[in-house]
Amino acid sequence: MSNFVWCHGPSCHKSHTQDRIRGVKGSKVLRTKKVTQDKWNSGERTSMYSYFCSQGCYNDFANTYVREVIALHPRTEALETPINVTKEQARDWSGRDYMETKIIAVDNNGG
Ligand SMILES: [Zn+2]
Repeated sequence: MSNFVWCHGPSCHKSHTQDRIRGVKGSKVLRTKKVTQDKWNSGERTSMYSYFCSQGCYNDFANTYVREVIALHPRTEALETPINVTKEQARDWSGRDYMETKIIAVDNNGG
């Protein structure tokens, strides 16, 4: 007995692929694909591939429901990462010298 969820792509059942065909002659359908929940996409590895059979189905879902998803996690102000910026002399692949900008994140939390 396999553990699965149905793909959440809103148009998954409209893709014309043989692995979606179900039913008997005269009453066949294209059915939403199952997404097997295994060690590669569940638990700590839960990701978009835990809920979608493909990148295309994920994109369809994200584009259809983007307003609702954003409403759950709105960004009302910019985030900032403290950094140090330095310039260092460097040499490119052809041997030319140039000034390289180095950006290093600063951990202000003592970590
Ligand atoms: Zn799908």
